[in-house]
Amino acid sequence: NADTALSHAKRMGRKNYQFYSRPMNAAAVQMLEMGNHLHRAVERGELLLYYQPQIDLRSGEIFGAEALLRWRHGGKDLVLPGEFIPLAEESGLIISMGEWALRSACLQARAWEEEGHPLRVSVNLSSRQFWHRDLAPMVARILAETALPPHLLHLEITETILLESGPATLETLMALKDLGAVLSLDDFGTGYSSLSYLRRYPFAMLKIDQAFTREIEGDAGAGMVEAIMAMARSLKLQVIAEGVENAAQLDALRSRGCDIIQGFLVSPPLAAEEFGTFLRRAAFAGEKPLPPGTGWL
Ligand code: C2E
Ligand code: MG
Ligand code: MG
Ligand code: MG
Repeated sequence: NADTALSHAKRMGRKNYQFYSRPMNAAAVQMLEMGNHLHRAVERGELLLYYQPQIDLRSGEIFGAEALLRWRHGGKDLVLPGEFIPLAEESGLIISMGEWALRSACLQARAWEEEGHPLRVSVNLSSRQFWHRDLAPMVARILAETALPPHLLHLEITETILLESGPATLETLMALKDLGAVLSLDDFGTGYSSLSYLRRYPFAMLKIDQAFTREIEGDAGAGMVEAIMAMARSLKLQVIAEGVENAAQLDALRSRGCDIIQGFLVSPPLAAEEFGTFLRRAAFAGEKPLPPGTGWL
């Protein structure tokens, strides 16, 4: 666990005599080193965004794309966010990384728009970013700077962030909404979901976590998704299902009124260039991006 290793390393640093005493130390030292490298990653341009298409099930068209961070570290394979976001959170680096990600995503969406593809771009916010006092002004600056129409920017906030909820939560959400951005509740169902906050907060989208998508073929799982859909409809939220990997899941979701899907069935997250190819192929002769045999074509 990254957090434990890092705090362990910190404790070890304070008591030098313990430094060589346990096998755990190698991992801790590695975490500290990774932290140092991560610090330089932004400046060195080692961070990149991948984009995963989201498909509107009614029109069959591309609804938008979720921007997902990747780190090209030392010429090796891309490092996934699960391995460095916790470290970035703990060190505070997430603030500058998050600003970089937001700006890059908005620039990209603006470029797509100029090419005739006004797609939404969805950017994830972490807890520390959400509670940072500069968040709304920062989003406002980037929208102005990139000239992206604000409704094309979706901001994903996980349910767990709302757990630390206080009076400032609603204020922050409203400030973001007032900028014209669209709020999306990410990983729905994995935390503590309360109807009352969903009603109170200005979310327009709800993302069903992939854990539910995975179970939709079973009776219990299907029941859960039906309950989520009913609730979403009564609150007038649009629903995106994450982690859709096969045609059976797609059919089960569509028959229950799911609005949008995202997952390997359509495409894995793509580098910006590859996404451009995906876009042009989908736009060509009105071809729909869902693969044949999924009951769509
Ligand atoms: P998330 O926002 O829930 O993103 C969805 C994750 O599911 C992504 O993992 C995506 O690659 C993966 N995924 C997509 N389709 C499928 C599928 O069909 N099956 C399976 N098994 N997985 C699928 P990824 O890219 O590793 O990102 C993990 C998490 O890291 C994200 O979860 C998000 O919470 C966080 N993250 C990513 N980029 C950023 C960022 O720019 N800022 C912040 N704060 N967090 C980020
Ligand atoms: Mg997300
Ligand atoms: Mg999610
Ligand atoms: Mg998730």
